[in-house]
Amino acid sequence: MTWFSKRLAALPSYPMAEIPAVKRRLLAQGVDVIDLGAGDADFAPPELAVETLARAARDPAMSRYPFQLGLPTFREAAAAYLQRRFGVRVDPFTELHPLIGSKEGIAHLAMAVLDPGDVAVVPEPGYAVYEGATVLAGAQPYRRALTPRTNFLLELADLPADTLRRTKLVYLNYPNNPTAAIAPRDYLERTVEFCRRHRIVIAYDNPYCEITFDGYVAPSIFEIPGAREIAVEFHSLSKTFCMTGWRLGWAVGRPELIAALARVKNYVDTGAFLAVQAAGAAVLAQAETLAQGYVARFQERRDALLPALHAQGFEPDTPGATMYVWVPLPEGLASDAFARRALTEAGVVTLPGSGFGAGGEGFFRLALTVSTPRLVDAAERLGKVLAAV
Ligand code: PLP
Repeated sequence: MTWFSKRLAALPSYPMAEIPAVKRRLLAQGVDVIDLGAGDADFAPPELAVETLARAARDPAMSRYPFQLGLPTFREAAAAYLQRRFGVRVDPFTELHPLIGSKEGIAHLAMAVLDPGDVAVVPEPGYAVYEGATVLAGAQPYRRALTPRTNFLLELADLPADTLRRTKLVYLNYPNNPTAAIAPRDYLERTVEFCRRHRIVIAYDNPYCEITFDGYVAPSIFEIPGAREIAVEFHSLSKTFCMTGWRLGWAVGRPELIAALARVKNYVDTGAFLAVQAAGAAVLAQAETLAQGYVARFQERRDALLPALHAQGFEPDTPGATMYVWVPLPEGLASDAFARRALTEAGVVTLPGSGFGAGGEGFFRLALTVSTPRLVDAAERLGKVLAAV
């Protein structure tokens, strides 16, 4: 008899799981490693966040259990941000819920919605948690390829009839990780309409909504008519405000879905540290201004890396959003083999497209997480690997 569950065996390997160990080994050997792997930029979090956290941590009330209510001012600050930024008005107590990072909510929503036999449609390439959460909920992921031919948009219209009948959840993520694609409004309109018609819940994963360039402004799914009936949107402080380790985000959506998520969470966590929620509330009160500062710096990095990659023979499109560059490889070159050589021969951590599901093959992802000179250095090193393969 095995100790382990069938769902554990069904989990795909987590794409970034081994990288920290390999990186540590290389660093111990004295290799100058440039890490463009995880979406975890090296910018400091806002001073306002640090100061508020330090102050809040001295208040003994902040050390109590947060429970699912969390800090009311965090809920209110998140709701006020949604209204200012997207014109979306929600009740902070019934339509919004604090999360210990958006990953946690994305995973737990699956448990609230899916049963064995149900299907969740997941993008491939895509954030690994969509598929993992579906498997952990005992349901079946149905992978939809995101390809340049469809501008990396996840299309539902031609799902096989049997799959469509069993589909209860679809994960959408625009601006997209890893392809950096953005979703035009007409795409969102027809997708919401389709999901309403088929009673499919949309998990709209929106952690990159502020990291946009060249005048593009990313929407909330709730700007689309009808979305409030079927969507849950996930927001995060991780990427926009360089607070990945703080673990703070929120879910927003119709009260029944939010209550279902909260019900699952009651049994697995007791909420994000209240002092972190206090810091989050302070940051969200100035979200747009703070975001602008980071975005300008991401854009500077993007604008340095793209020409450097092109000079080395790579042909990525210029990302209009996110902190990622999705780089196509020459025909026939396996992304896993390329990423391995990039790491061991050039000391550059990249993520192979295949790590985001088989549909990501033929690409690798770079994250704008280090300084401009280091990015240019990385492009040159990657160019040497490309020339040698
Ligand atoms: N969704 C996407 C598409 C991501 O890329 C990430 C992080 O990489 C997350 C969600 C999770 O972010 P967090 O849990 O830090 O809020």
